[in-house]
Amino acid sequence: MKTKEEYIESLKEKNMDVYVMGEKVEDTINHPIIAPSLNSVALTYELAEDEEYEELMTATSSLTGKKINRFTHLHQSTDDLVKKVKMQRMLGQKTASCFQRCVGMDAANAVFSTTFECDEKHGTNYHERFRKYWTLVQENDWVVDGAMTDPKGDRGKSPSQQSDPDMYLRIVERREDGIVVRGAKAHQTGMVNSHEVMVMPTVAMREEDKDYAVAFSVSVDTPGIFMIYGRQSCDTRKLEKDADIDLGNKNYGGHEALVIFEDVFVPNDRIFMAGEYDFSGMLVERFASYHRQSYGGCKCGVGDVLIGATAVSAEYNGVQKASHIKDKLIEMNHLNETIYSCGIACSCQGKKLPAGNYYVDTLLANVCKQNVTRFPYEITRLAEDIAGGLMVTLPSEMDYNNPELRAYIDKYLKGVDEISTEDRMRILRLIENITLGTAAVGYRTESMHGAGSPQAQRIMIARQANMEEKKEQAKKIAGIKKKK
Ligand code: SF4
Ligand code: FE
Repeated sequence: MKTKEEYIESLKEKNMDVYVMGEKVEDTINHPIIAPSLNSVALTYELAEDEEYEELMTATSSLTGKKINRFTHLHQSTDDLVKKVKMQRMLGQKTASCFQRCVGMDAANAVFSTTFECDEKHGTNYHERFRKYWTLVQENDWVVDGAMTDPKGDRGKSPSQQSDPDMYLRIVERREDGIVVRGAKAHQTGMVNSHEVMVMPTVAMREEDKDYAVAFSVSVDTPGIFMIYGRQSCDTRKLEKDADIDLGNKNYGGHEALVIFEDVFVPNDRIFMAGEYDFSGMLVERFASYHRQSYGGCKCGVGDVLIGATAVSAEYNGVQKASHIKDKLIEMNHLNETIYSCGIACSCQGKKLPAGNYYVDTLLANVCKQNVTRFPYEITRLAEDIAGGLMVTLPSEMDYNNPELRAYIDKYLKGVDEISTEDRMRILRLIENITLGTAAVGYRTESMHGAGSPQAQRIMIARQANMEEKKEQAKKIAGIKKKK
């Protein structure tokens, strides 16, 4: 396993093509807008070295027998699935943001199992290739960006029906030694902090979409790949001189990027699907279900911090004893633990796949994510209710640092006697950060659309809910006889 320092050093060797706010970034490691998101990923290395977190953060590789970071693990039991969710909750609590490394882990488990079943049917050798590749990932302790979401253009049309054929990433050339691909992947979590990118198709496909049924991995600095960093609310606060209080969460964050693949060559040993359109749906469904399980961990970890911050803000206002405040905090916990319950439940009910790794219960994983599309919004609403309007009307840190204004801000924005105005400002800025600021990308809107928008889960729930069995159960109790 790499140490945190070795991880950062190894990223410096990547010659990434990244643009932030219209400009090419020379040093992604120290860029003030990117750095907090790097810190979140770096923590996944730091805690894996810490004995206290060994149980959650590390695992024994099924490929090499060696100790590895859990983020590179192929789950070998339901216990592994449960530990994954617990690890994510713990990291959500420590970063109050998206720590980005889960997408690669979820992609790996989906590709590992799908390639096995694809080979059985088509006689391809993708699984063996993937095993070799993933052994390399584990040995190097790499961060892998799992890239699924295509831009999709006209949502009413299939990949091959689009007027612009690049709206879904596709194979543009097949060569003896590999393929050339073109297209883009949107909302790529953690891409700039990754060593590798693993591309997967984004929808189930038919024969005419064959060239779009493609999965592969390449280094993030492969010629032809470039990234445009996603804008976040309040992101330029990080560029302000000595920014601290106004950031809400100075040290951690997450990021997404639009990643463009402009005629990128992929060698044969890195290709895990190239035209087997009948396995595209399986790969999408597995990745999505694993990632919907993931939200049962990370989102309630961040939720824990938000609930804590809300309770603190109530204390700083002197309202913590009011019964409606207590009740709202209970409600926030109830919602947050319901998310977690689904994450744990879909893990406990997991099953072994033909390839040997474990898969979540898809119905429960989709219920988990469906709850995540709602509950963080309600938790956020209650947080804003309790925190009060000052959360969005506070003077800036620059005003607070102006000696002529400071005494007035201290005086008039004070809550209870024993708490400084500065601390009151800090807790409100943290709530702002999680609900409206840079972390809101990961906590709010990503709760809606990350790992698939709500309707995607409803389709899966409809498919998995076994309505026929339920109808039979009802008819039997009601005494309705089967027609002969
Ligand atoms: Fe991991 Fe959650 Fe971020 Fe997805 S949103 S990468 S599950 S922390
Ligand atoms: Fe996500």
